Amino acid sequence: MHTGWSWDTPTSSTMRRACERAVSLGLPAIAFTEHLDFTDWLDNDRATTDGLLGRHPAHQLPINVEGYFAELTEVRERFPELRIWSGVETGEPHLFAASVAAHLRDSPVDRVLGSLHSLDLDGHLVGVGRVLYTDPDTTMRRYLGELVEMIEESDVFQVLAHVDFPRRYWPGGHDRYVEKDYEEEYRGVFRALASTGRALEVNTTSPLASVDQVRWFYEEGGEAVSFGSDAHAPTAIGQKFDLAVDVVEAAGFRPGRDRFDFWRR
Ligand SMILES: [Zn+2]
Repeated sequence: MHTGWSWDTPTSSTMRRACERAVSLGLPAIAFTEHLDFTDWLDNDRATTDGLLGRHPAHQLPINVEGYFAELTEVRERFPELRIWSGVETGEPHLFAASVAAHLRDSPVDRVLGSLHSLDLDGHLVGVGRVLYTDPDTTMRRYLGELVEMIEESDVFQVLAHVDFPRRYWPGGHDRYVEKDYEEEYRGVFRALASTGRALEVNTTSPLASVDQVRWFYEEGGEAVSFGSDAHAPTAIGQKFDLAVDVVEAAGFRPGRDRFDFWRR
């Protein structure tokens, strides 16, 4: 989940409130995976060699790591019954490998998510919700194709976040999105992910994945599944996890070694 240390999350969303919520729900663990999105990057990032000029919009902000880790220490002392992981959600990590590596060298974390929020549009990284409107079908296929590249080119993340992020913004409403139309592309992503043994996140802010979708991952050799609320407010922690568990179980996965582990095949 995210807290006020992420650029897109209100400061009222504190770790302390999140932990109180997690404890009241009986969750064994929580991970604070703040957004790591670069608007300035290094010369040896692929974003530079690809000739990217900037982001649009470019309101992403760096993580205040000092503040983040200070609050983390505080909640770890206050909530000993909860396992509290540090983390980041790296946006487009294949384009910013050197910048991500530099960040993690200075500020290592327990859990790294990989995600794709933006696509190159005329030399700028543009939020996919904006790109989608011109041609949703082509954009969706391009998005899933770019995910394959991201998985193949970046090994910095352990969990692939919200695999079909654009469906949140589907023109006319996400009810009109037909997963099955992209089965081949999903399978390509899942094959790439499975071959590295990394985990697929079932994201419960996104419209919930179907059993079919998670089963495609299973059939392509998927090893592990992670549950992510992607909460940007404490009230959203653990949202729809009961449903998500049913979906993941019906697709063939089972609880892992203990309550802290991924679910596994
Ligand atoms: Zn995200």
